[in-house]
Amino acid sequence: MATRFVPQRVNWAEREKHSLINFDLKPEELEAYLDEYLIGQREAKGILATKICTHFHRVKYFLERGERFDEVGFVKNNIIIIGPTGVGKTFMIKLIARKIGVPFVKGDATKFSETGYVGGDVEDLIRDLVQEADGNLEKARFGLVYLDEVDKIASSGHLVGPDVSRTGVQRALLKPLEETEVELRVPHDPIAQMEAVEYYRRTGRRKRNTINTRYILFIASGAFSGLEEIIRKRLHKQKLGFLSELEERRDVQVNYLKFVVPEDLIAYGFESEFVGRFPVIAVFDPLTEEDLYHILANPNSVIVVSKKRDFRAYGLDLAFTEEALRRLASLAARENTGARALSRVLERTLIPFEKALPSMELSFLGVTREVVDDPEGVLREMRAFPENPRWREWYERALREEEERLRDFLKNRKRSFFEKYRFPLTPTKLDLALNLHRREDLDPQQALEELLMLWRQIRSFEKSFERRTGLRIFFSEEARDLILDQVLKRDEGVYAFCDRILSVLEYGLKLVGDRTGKRSFELPREAVVSPERFLNRLVSATYHLD
Ligand code: ADP
Repeated sequence: MATRFVPQRVNWAEREKHSLINFDLKPEELEAYLDEYLIGQREAKGILATKICTHFHRVKYFLERGERFDEVGFVKNNIIIIGPTGVGKTFMIKLIARKIGVPFVKGDATKFSETGYVGGDVEDLIRDLVQEADGNLEKARFGLVYLDEVDKIASSGHLVGPDVSRTGVQRALLKPLEETEVELRVPHDPIAQMEAVEYYRRTGRRKRNTINTRYILFIASGAFSGLEEIIRKRLHKQKLGFLSELEERRDVQVNYLKFVVPEDLIAYGFESEFVGRFPVIAVFDPLTEEDLYHILANPNSVIVVSKKRDFRAYGLDLAFTEEALRRLASLAARENTGARALSRVLERTLIPFEKALPSMELSFLGVTREVVDDPEGVLREMRAFPENPRWREWYERALREEEERLRDFLKNRKRSFFEKYRFPLTPTKLDLALNLHRREDLDPQQALEELLMLWRQIRSFEKSFERRTGLRIFFSEEARDLILDQVLKRDEGVYAFCDRILSVLEYGLKLVGDRTGKRSFELPREAVVSPERFLNRLVSATYHLD
């Protein structure tokens, strides 16, 4: 069954056929995709979805012209991201890489200043891109490189440490950020060396195995503590009227970072050439308690889904009540580490159960407010009274509430799926998506996309039937729902399934067509339930009419 689903890791062999030449993603589509997984960060989503989309459209433009450059050349829009920890910076870039289908790597800029071997470290990252692309050099040269903690290489006066080396690190990065050739062979790898010698012996030429960083987009990120103060001072010097108005209002907390300009980064301790390599700046907001709750309640949430998988590994089912999620969010908000705190709070609450339940009789856990408030106490009671009906009540309540959240989530997608794909999310389809989500461990978004893919196969079967026979057929939406239901139950291909039905119908439809001149047939649900009965009725009606 799993083979039909879009894998989390990109399958390069599959993508090869339609590489970036076919890239046609639009910024708003990318933004909508991010909305499915990422809570808040409205402004940053817009900027990153747009600029990264534009980057790949420009790459495509050059590829289509055989990479001949005009007088402007290829100027990259590398991006600086500013924001506190755990608010979705890495997550957003990862999601974008996944949606576009390009490899992604993350490195830490602090490492550069420690080792003093900047060139080598950046090259290692580029080589990692090749690995991420399963050795496919063609893919690797369009990768996304994420440089974390870039604020640590600023030579700011208020930081202690050797400033000279930090400036050196920035300078050493200038070239790879723009364009450089990176040697792929690791110099001290004996096997690679042997291969190179062998290649030289056979061909008399040295094998050049390099990757060019021209199309690789760099995203540098950091918390930039202290930057806010620099911006605030500059703004005050400029005496902007709106600012004092904003500051006077008690209900608004001014996020000065939103006003950042390149000069602030220079004042922070970056060389102007370095800042110049990053024409795009995006600021991420801190997450509020409400945001944290929505992250947990989003059925696509990686945090909750992965916790459920941990429990399922022991055959245990886990479900959360609304109250429990609110409670978890409120505990996490106190830690000030964004969504990272959510995983920690969730672990802290559930580890006692993860340890004890596998050796107990219970095969489920409904996480309620009581569980979050006093995990050890609840567990003690569970051990003492495992037959207490309360445990099942909790679990069932949690399940009901989860299902409600899920149905709301799916229903909210009804309009956009119809507008975008003409795909009607009927009640049956919602049920099927729910089942896929539960049984196949797909997140709801993937479940909907899986259904959409199968539904499109039905449509394309209809068209190919018409091309082959000259008879136009289309299934009613009810009939399509039944087909989806059946192929999912039987784990059968859509084409094979429809073929079986039409092999019964084809001859009869032709006869009726010849007799009546009718070239277009709607096939109702009955035609799927019993093609023979449907045909009998159709034929006898036709002859009866005669
Ligand atoms: P950082 O901002 O430090 O790069 P990450 O993006 O790595 O933080 O966030 C850690 C995890 O927290 C992510 O993998 C994701 O599961 C979750 N997360 C963070 N921010 C959000 C958000 N805005 N919406 C949904 N999940 C988030």
